[in-house]
This record gives sequence, structure tokens and C-alpha cells, in this order.
Amino acid sequence: MAEQELLSACLSPALDKRFKHLWRLVGNTPMLELQYTYKGKPGRVFVKCENYNLTGSIKDRMALYILYKAYMNCQIRPTDVVIEATSGNTGIAFSAIGKALGHQVKIIMPNWLSKERTDIIRSMGADIQLISKEEGGFLGSIRLSEELAAAGGVFLPRQFENQYNAEAHEKTTGYEIVKQLEEQGLIADAFVAGVGTGGTVMGVGRSLRKVNPAVRVHPLEPAESPTLTTGHKVGSHRIQGISDEFIPAIVNLDELDRVVCANDGDSIIMAQKLSRQLGLAVGISSGANVIGAIKLQQELGDGAVVVTLLCDDNKKYLSTDLVKDEPVKPGYLSSDVDFLGFQPICR
Ligand code: PMP
Repeated sequence: MAEQELLSACLSPALDKRFKHLWRLVGNTPMLELQYTYKGKPGRVFVKCENYNLTGSIKDRMALYILYKAYMNCQIRPTDVVIEATSGNTGIAFSAIGKALGHQVKIIMPNWLSKERTDIIRSMGADIQLISKEEGGFLGSIRLSEELAAAGGVFLPRQFENQYNAEAHEKTTGYEIVKQLEEQGLIADAFVAGVGTGGTVMGVGRSLRKVNPAVRVHPLEPAESPTLTTGHKVGSHRIQGISDEFIPAIVNLDELDRVVCANDGDSIIMAQKLSRQLGLAVGISSGANVIGAIKLQQELGDGAVVVTLLCDDNKKYLSTDLVKDEPVKPGYLSSDVDFLGFQPICR
């Protein structure tokens, strides 16, 4: 973490040590300069490899930070059960980090997400409850977590409204992006990220703006199911982890530039291309993010420094369309892109 803070009365030295050990396994991820051609013309975008975190996703940062802050603010006791409603990666992150800190964990999630997600959460001994569309899906999962908390002995991270979610990304993800670019003599001109809770786009945006007030910060969502531009759930999509059923409280659209869209089939093909042409075996939202980054790079011109993230790897998607032949449709950006290679920027 960028900052050292004073110990709180609620954070024992033993637990503080566990947090410090966990921070060595979360964050400080590599960044890659991805080289590609678009319609035969060379270009580059920068991607932060969040699959390098402890449980292999972007969500470890906020899970660890929220629990740390909860101890610092005396909002959690070591005996509390951590209960969270999630579309998957958050559940995996809280299961691993909660267990490492000695907590019982209960995860509530919609029943239509990939089987790998539930299997991984169960493998760590967390309790899991699946909610059908009829039972209220995502919003029903959140409602149930609040009901369970009413009995006491529970800590609710509330990732959709907890400002520490965005702050985790401001202080770690964004901070690291600034430093890694700085080492190359660069400053970000634009950042784009798919919005689940919006913690990533809000937090990284705030960090990048400190060095370049003119930086463009774009949220991304699926073209088939645009929540941010409509305010509610529309249609369905296959980019697991983004565009849930509402605009999260921590998202402030006034702070952001225009919403960028990625088609889910295009995102699948882009993720497959990253895997097949570069060996970067990533999940579907990473494909969507790279589509967003290449779109912005084309818009802003050759010299522009455009940054995005690879949110997780492909292992949680081996039972999904990510490993099937995806039909190519007219207008897909992935049809015009070929990857040439990458150059790592490590800290
Ligand atoms: N991609 C994946 C695979 C995710 O699990 C998430 C988190 N739900 C995101 C992107 C979006 O991250 P955030 O919640 O910070 O908006």
C-alpha cells in the first residue's frame, strides 16, 4: 500500500502481521505494453495484469482493503461472519482473504454464473447460497445479505456502496499504473474499465487525474445490456463480472467520460485472440476492456497512452462460450485486430 497508517485498537499486532503478509500477495501486478495492428496499422495499449493477484482477479485489492479498513475503524470483530453478495470474483476474494484472516465466510450469488466460480468458493470452505431470477437475482442476493446481517455477528463489506472499494483502487491499482508509466517516461491520456461495482474505474480515475487532470476516464459496459446508460437492467449479456442490474452507489457518472460499449461476442473473440496469439489466457471482461482501449487509442491517435486491465484469467470460464467457436458478426472490432507481442513493465 502507498500509505502507512497507525494501528487501531481493534487491529491486534498478530492480525496486522497477517494483513501485511497478504498485501505482499495482492497488488504490485505487472503491466504490459500490448502491440497490435488494427486494419494493418500498428498500435499499442497498456494493460495491467490483475490475474497476478492472490486469487487471480482484480477483486483481491478491494476485499483486502475493505477488511483492513473495517478493522482500523472497529467495524468488524474477529468472530464476525463475512457475508457478501457477488457475481463471483468478489466471492472468491473474500473467501480466500476472509479465511486467511480467520473469518467464516458466506457468499450469496445469482445461480446463472459459471460453475467454476461456485466450485472455487466451496473449495475454500465458504458457505454459498445461490439465488434464482425468480428469487430476485442480483438484487435479491443483496437483500438477503442485509436480512442475514440483521441477526448480528456479521460484517457486510457492501462492495457496491463502500467508498473503500474505490479507494483501494485509487491507492493501489491507480498508484501502480502511474508509477509504472512514469518509469517509461509516460503519463496516461485515457483509461477504460468495465463496470461491475465501478470501484476500479472510479478509483483508478481519481489516481490518474492527480498526474494528468485532462486524462479521459471511460466506464465500459456490454452493448447488449447497457445498465449505465439506461439506469436499470436491459437484456442479457455474457461478460461475467460487469453490468449487474443497477448503477452502483459508488459510481458517479459526472466524474467520468462517455460510456464505451463492447459487444459480448466481440469480447469473447478478443479474449480468445489474446490467448491464441499471445498466450495471455484471460477472461471475457478482459477482452471487452481491450476492445475499449483499442477503440480509444484509434480515437486519440498514435502517441496517446491508453490503459486498461486484464481483470482475471480464463480458468473460471472453461465451461462457458469463451472456449467455444464464437460466430463473427459484422462490425466486430476483433476482426480487424491482430496482436504482435507484448513488453512487460514490472515494479
Ligand atoms: N471483470 C470481472 C471479471 C469482475 O469480476 C469484475 C468485478 N465484478 C469487474 C470486471 C469489474 O470490476 P469493478 O467491480 O471494480 O467495477
